[in-house]
This record gives sequence, structure tokens and C-alpha cells, in this order.
Amino acid sequence: MNLIIIKLGGSAITKKSENKAETNKKLLHNICVDVSKIKGKKIIVHGAGAYGHKPVKEFKINNGIKTEKQVHGFTETRASVQKLNNEVMQELIKCGINAVSVNPFDVIIQNNKKISYFDLTKIKKLLELNCVPVLFGDMVLDKSLKASVVSGDAIVPFLAKKLNAEKVLLGTDVNGLFTNDPKKNKKAKHISELNNSNYNEIIKGIKKASTVDVTGGMKGKIDKIKKELKGIKTIVFDLKKKGNILKAINEKTGTKILFK
Ligand code: ADP
Repeated sequence: MNLIIIKLGGSAITKKSENKAETNKKLLHNICVDVSKIKGKKIIVHGAGAYGHKPVKEFKINNGIKTEKQVHGFTETRASVQKLNNEVMQELIKCGINAVSVNPFDVIIQNNKKISYFDLTKIKKLLELNCVPVLFGDMVLDKSLKASVVSGDAIVPFLAKKLNAEKVLLGTDVNGLFTNDPKKNKKAKHISELNNSNYNEIIKGIKKASTVDVTGGMKGKIDKIKKELKGIKTIVFDLKKKGNILKAINEKTGTKILFK
């Protein structure tokens, strides 16, 4: 299937670095305009950004829910990420995209923070209808931890592998991979390509995340891509720059990742 999976990073679409559950409205609009220009079958997965990471930290629910307060935190987190999803959906539809939200809570079950069940029926049917399924970083039921966070970065490779995606576009707030965190080290050098031959050298400079991220940040992304996305080209790029999604599709920006 000629399918493209587009991840809208929480660090770009929300005010993640300020730890505020707010969207960057103008940016979100520009992104949706760009997405509307992409032809063919596509799935959108957006991060939770501050809408998810903030309550998960506050209620300390990154390792399961035991106390009543944590159960409450779980419900608050779900409500919060759904609020973000509503905002993203409204903008996508306003831009003429036939987007339909697929709630990860409804289709995924995890075991010890890993996806153990994922019902793809609705996603496949929506693609047949030429609709764009939209998923997002969420909290789902977990066989051993009662509930756990499923990140957009875990959903993307899972879907790409199962649905045999042609390409994965990972939009974030930096223009791909650098020799070090570019937000902390001004001398960090851009890496144009990551593959099996330079992986060991480059991974040393890739950190988790400097923000409220609870799902592994950049390091988590690369680990999952290496493990699950063999043979599928992934582009990590700066979603904050207008027109960059279209450039990323043509591999004219960001970092190209391809593992064998
Ligand atoms: P998102 O929420 O968009 O998915 P994350 O916050 O999880 O993004 O990860 C992106 C962040 O990773 C960037 O903002 C950057 O500060 C950080 N990072 C750490 N190390 C690196 C590196 N070597 N190259 C690029 N980014 C890095």
C-alpha cells in the first residue's frame, strides 16, 4: 500500500517546552494546510505534548496506577489528550481533510507499557474510504500496570510495520538529528543520514528530551525506529517551518533514517 504515516510531534504542535497545555494555533493551521496538499493514503499520529506529559508527571502515573489519586490522574490525562485531539481534528477538517479520530484507548491494550493488542479494523476501513485516520499519544489499559502511556512514537512504527507504509515522516521541533541536543549545544552538527553503519557513533549524542517528556524523547524515537522500522524510510524534520512537510516527503529536509 502506498501509505505515508505522518507524526505531528507534541513539541511542535503544543507548548511542550513551556509545559503548557495549549496548542500553537497558527502553526497547527499551517501544518494542516500542508497535509491537505499531500496526495494518497495517509495516517496522522500526533503527540500528546504538554497535554499528556504534564498530568502524567503530576500524578506520577508513568509506571501504572495503584492509588485512587492515580486513577483520577489517569482520567484527567485521557480527558486532556482528547481535548488536544479535538483541536487537531477541527483544524484538519477545516482544511478540507477527511480526517477521522481513532481513539488509541479504544483500539490498543498494553502489557507493561508495550502494545500487546491493536485492533486495526477501523483504520483499514477508513483508509479504504480514503479517509485519514488520526491517532495520538494516549493512556490505555495495561494488563500488568492497569493503565499506561502509549506514545505517538510507539504507535507510528507499529502501524508502519503492520500496514507496510512506504514512508514515515516524524515532525518535531528540530530539523532532524544532530551530534548533540541542538537546543543545548550550539555546536551540534546536523546529521543528514542515519543507518546501520553510523548508528553506534551517532546514538551517543542523542538524549532523551529536555522537556516534560515521559516517553523517551529523541532517544526513544530512534530506539523504536531501529527495532521496528527496518526497510522503511523515516524522515525526522522540523515541523515548525512552513512547507517542511512537503519538503520532507521529497527528502529535501531533515535527517533520513533507514535501517536494514
Ligand atoms: P516530540 O514531542 O516532537 O515528539 P521530543 O521532545 O520527544 O519530540 O524529542 C525532540 C527533542 O529531542 C528535541 O526538541 C531536542 O531538544 C531533543 N534531542 C536530544 N538529543 C538530540 C539530538 N542528538 N538531535 C536532535 N534532537 C535531540
